[in-house]
Amino acid sequence: MEEIKKKDIRALTREQLRDFFVSNGDKAFRGNQVYEWLWQKAAYSFDVMTNLSKETREMLEANFVINHIKVDQMQRSSDGTIKNAVRLHDDLIVESVLIPTKSRTTACVSSQVGCSLDCRFCATSRLKRMRNLNPDEIYDQVVAIDNESRLYFERPLSNIVFMGMGEPLMNYNNVLKAIEKITSPDGLGMSPKRITVSTSGVPKLIKKMADDEVKFKLAVSLHSAIDEIRTAIMPFNAKFTLSDLRESLQYWYEKTRSRITYEYVVWEGINDTQKDVDALVAFCRFAPSKVNLIEYNPIDDGEFKQASSAAIDMYVNTLEKNNIVVTVRRSRGKDIDAACGQLANKS
Ligand code: SAH
Repeated sequence: MEEIKKKDIRALTREQLRDFFVSNGDKAFRGNQVYEWLWQKAAYSFDVMTNLSKETREMLEANFVINHIKVDQMQRSSDGTIKNAVRLHDDLIVESVLIPTKSRTTACVSSQVGCSLDCRFCATSRLKRMRNLNPDEIYDQVVAIDNESRLYFERPLSNIVFMGMGEPLMNYNNVLKAIEKITSPDGLGMSPKRITVSTSGVPKLIKKMADDEVKFKLAVSLHSAIDEIRTAIMPFNAKFTLSDLRESLQYWYEKTRSRITYEYVVWEGINDTQKDVDALVAFCRFAPSKVNLIEYNPIDDGEFKQASSAAIDMYVNTLEKNNIVVTVRRSRGKDIDAACGQLANKS
């Protein structure tokens, strides 16, 4: 007998779940109970839903699946960073990272399997985009890291960055749905102020986020404020040019009043001159912003090389002289390929 394809129960809204129970001759509040199990308690099976009768659990089992993720492999770095290889229900793999500091635990989560962008310095760009993650698959990564944080660091997860695999804005609806669940009292109840979505810069969608009045923070992977250079290292910049990006960021700030973070790697012979810094300073003038200088994590072909510390100092000095907040971020988890741009399902 052919098996009927069961529905992913987490694709249902609370109302749909309530309706399901009513149409099966049960009470609507049963839907609330299940909804709570699915999201607040992140239940991985119907068996654990102990406030439901055995018949109800069997009925759910017969109709639905919970497409939960499985942490296939967990690697721990000497600096405390943890990388999870996460298996999805269709056996594709993504990675997420737990980054501990003295006072925080940050989850770095993936939004797509692979990536459709072509940043030449990023390992994930070598994996072609297979598919978008569903909201529940993003949510599950966060829950897994929250559990690990409680287990290994005796505190809950405090921050989330969408800086894992994929371009979050190319999976706009699912990323926003996941964030809605993460921030809702129905879900994890985290503050949106502790969530940062990082994008390579898709102007139209940055404007859409502003129109949608999102409450999380925005980071943009800039890497160069000169079109020819940015296009050479991030080829999609030919289509999404810096002037469009700049305009969308001004729009973002006008609507949200939320300061933008620019992520920026300085490479030898690519963007390490005074002219490059000056262009960055000019770009920062358009909307209140700060700059995170991130260390380059080599991805094996040797084409890109971290700039000298003299070049980094030049960036820091020039930015500071122009009253632009700048931080120099050291990489974490390099020994297990968990640092920015290194996520590529190597193991
Ligand atoms: N697609 C999104 C989110 C994923 S990338 C974005 O582009 O923002 C997360 C960050 O790592 C980005 O700022 C990206 O530019 C940076 N990155 C990519 N490869 C890197 C590498 N090899 N070393 C350091 N940072 C890298």
